[in-house]
Amino acid sequence: MWARMSRMGFSFSQATIYTRTRAFHSQRRRLLPSFRNNYRYQRFQQSKNIFQRWAARPTFYYEVGGIGLAGGGFYVYNLEDVPVSGRRRFNIIGPEREKSIAGGVGEMVLNQYRDRILPPHDRRVQAVQRVLQRLMPVSGIDNKESWKVYVIDSNDVNAFVTPDNNVFVFTGILPICKNEDGIAAVLGHEIAHNFAHHTAEKASRAAILYIPTLFVELAIPGTWSITNQILNLILSLPNGRAQESEADYIGLLMMARACYNPEEAVRLWSRMAEYEKRIGGGTPPEFMSTHPSSNNRGSKMSEWMYEAEAKRMESDCQATIGYSNAFRRSGAFGGYS
Ligand SMILES: [Zn+2]
Repeated sequence: MWARMSRMGFSFSQATIYTRTRAFHSQRRRLLPSFRNNYRYQRFQQSKNIFQRWAARPTFYYEVGGIGLAGGGFYVYNLEDVPVSGRRRFNIIGPEREKSIAGGVGEMVLNQYRDRILPPHDRRVQAVQRVLQRLMPVSGIDNKESWKVYVIDSNDVNAFVTPDNNVFVFTGILPICKNEDGIAAVLGHEIAHNFAHHTAEKASRAAILYIPTLFVELAIPGTWSITNQILNLILSLPNGRAQESEADYIGLLMMARACYNPEEAVRLWSRMAEYEKRIGGGTPPEFMSTHPSSNNRGSKMSEWMYEAEAKRMESDCQATIGYSNAFRRSGAFGGYS
């Protein structure tokens, strides 16, 4: 490093004298950038040499081919079918790892809204809990661990379920849900994201991006923090259209199996669209901004309705519906609409 700087006519003693005779701000401007640029240039040259040396090896093409084959094999080996929908996808993250990746999200929300969590006796909390109790047995998710319900007093139109079994519902979404069938449509969709391990799928995609990032970091150490990059990627990647549509489908069948009226899911999305129109060109509700709306979403739901009704018929719904109607007559839903 110093040898290179000397070759460029910049000696250590000159630098010292220079820094002593200039004001602080000009020292930084004149001295540090050249030092930093030289450092980067040197690292870049070194990394270039490593790759040049590799490319010059007689076995270079075989090695690149081998890496490509191993990469392709790894990808194919880790392909799997999502249960219920049958979609083929790449996933290398197990359920436990997925839970630990998502663990911080619930904590973050709890810290932010700690003083706005409604008490267990609030009828809105009880309504969400009733829906959850009916959805969980048919959700296909291992039900051994306890689920925690948090209803947050906030105008945000939002709800989500974290892979580590925390259910968050913001009161702002309840008038759009309108009734417990509507709550079941929202929670069914959110639980379906967990059932299909969409967080693991996102993290797997981020892991693929990690490999080129690792190469850059190895060639030019300290250029950026890999950990931050990966975390940001995982958190910022929205669910794609395929995952949203899949959660719609699985959620619809789930609510139908739990004897809720699947038609309400279609009505819920039209109420959501009306709400969006009402607030004009402003920021869309949180639930919608993370769930890209599309015109064919409702019609897609209608297409699946026959299948959903069949699922509903398979369940012994008479007793459950009777119980639900008794609640409706008692006026338990009055405040939502
Ligand atoms: Zn979603």
